[in-house]
Amino acid sequence: MPNMRVDKNSMPAQEPGVRNKNFQEVALGYPEDVALDEAARCLNCKHKPCVQGCPVRIDIPAFIKKINEGDFEAAYQVISEASSLPAVCGRVCPQESQCEKVCVRGIKNEPVGIGRLERFVADWHFEHTDGAVEAPQKNGHRVAVIGSGPAGLACAGELARRGYEVTIFEALHTAGGVLMYGIPEFRLPKRIVQAEISTLKKLGVTIETDVVVGKTQSVDELFEEGFEAVFIGSGAGLPSFMNIPGENLDGVYSANEFLTRINLMKAYRPDSPTPIRQVHKVAVVGGGNVAMDAARCAKRLGAEEVYIVYRRSDAELPARAEEVEHAKEEGIIFKTLTNPVAILPGENKGVAAIRCLKMELGEPDESGRRRPVPVEGSEFEIPVDTVVMSIGTSPNPLIKSTTKGLETTRKGGIVTDEGGKTTREGVYAGGDAVTGSATVILAMGAGKEAAHSIDEYIKAKNA
Ligand SMILES: Cc1cc2nc3c(=O)[nH]c(=O)nc-3n(C[C@H](O)[C@H](O)[C@H](O)COP(=O)(O)OP(=O)(O)OC[C@H]3O[C@@H](n4cnc5c(N)ncnc54)[C@H](O)[C@@H]3O)c2cc1C
Repeated sequence: MPNMRVDKNSMPAQEPGVRNKNFQEVALGYPEDVALDEAARCLNCKHKPCVQGCPVRIDIPAFIKKINEGDFEAAYQVISEASSLPAVCGRVCPQESQCEKVCVRGIKNEPVGIGRLERFVADWHFEHTDGAVEAPQKNGHRVAVIGSGPAGLACAGELARRGYEVTIFEALHTAGGVLMYGIPEFRLPKRIVQAEISTLKKLGVTIETDVVVGKTQSVDELFEEGFEAVFIGSGAGLPSFMNIPGENLDGVYSANEFLTRINLMKAYRPDSPTPIRQVHKVAVVGGGNVAMDAARCAKRLGAEEVYIVYRRSDAELPARAEEVEHAKEEGIIFKTLTNPVAILPGENKGVAAIRCLKMELGEPDESGRRRPVPVEGSEFEIPVDTVVMSIGTSPNPLIKSTTKGLETTRKGGIVTDEGGKTTREGVYAGGDAVTGSATVILAMGAGKEAAHSIDEYIKAKNA
């Protein structure tokens, strides 16, 4: 008999007043007894709507059934058939708008905590197994993967499992993409990402860091070196700015730079080679997950006041509800219906304040959301010493500009068909480099899909 309690088991977490002063993980994971209790809430529905809600079609009822049977390793194996990064996705996937949104238990009550159970199973696997992986027999064909974010990692893993010799070329000094440099340690511990990457290495994948394709080496040169296909998973790391006065002042960062300095360069440590100067009052402009991450990091750097400045209302905040709730609990101040118009200079070319206009919501725009319109005469200033711009990113044009025959959209996304095939023969692409900023699971799914197409392409070429 399923457990018919109405609400999902809550996840133990660090207290807000404690966690906003450290970078350790906020959510602590289900203990075994709670995972078993939550798994028993699954009705094991025959039509499995949750599977349709999952972008990579994990057989969710099957893995939960294995948890119910106490066979956690078997549950991990079920997830692994569809997902290359279970410990990552269990932590950062927007389950509330995917699998859990269509869970039958969610019609009348709370859905099953599918993400929390996925995380439990993945963590159990890493704690209780030695992570040994049998490297498959090599098939003698070489594939180059550009970028080591979830798209590149998933593509590389899938191809390696099929016997390909895969080399990942990564621009930064550490592999992992946004998982390493964007999403903060307190949401996704870096040891988790590195454990997933070490599994790939055991499968025989080679990772070359500090290689900027398009500068260090071109796509054409990769083909000349003997790679038979190339996958581009270079993400969407080019930050956008508002083009308002004062954006070039000292103390104004893009969210990308701010988060990279903190996550990858550990700028919060006094011995960091690239410290962020002392922050006291910080305005983060934007309302997405990236803005929430930047604001919560600023708080942890010791800032006394941290503002989210967002031009629409609370209801339109694009960030996950859980992230907004966590940010509010941690003391972030939300200035919604507020739009910056200038950043005002202080001493030594630093920042003194951000000048804003109050907004109200008008008619819906092309996105279907009500357009924010300025309220006349509503100008006001918030005194701050740091401003973090978090209003979106786009794909970097470097690879497109150095690769013949590669078409991109007006917004810079690489044009592909459903299998990730680009307009240049032998070149495939997926993840944020194609879609613009999206999600980990979609990038991972695109990487797997492209691996399948690359496999077919190389087999056909050598038939
Ligand atoms: C701060 C932040 C928080 C986020 N939070 C979430 C979340 O909670 N849940 C969620 O699902 N998604 C979240 N996302 C979005 C998610 O992380 C991305 O959609 C996902 O990482 C995209 O994967 P990708 O592999 O396409 O690109 P990326 O992860 O961006 O990886 C691309 C890699 O390519 C490398 N590269 C770029 N150009 C070159 C080149 N020329 N040569 C070699 N290497 C190159 C980059 O250095 C990078 O390592 C977040 C994003 C950010 C920035």
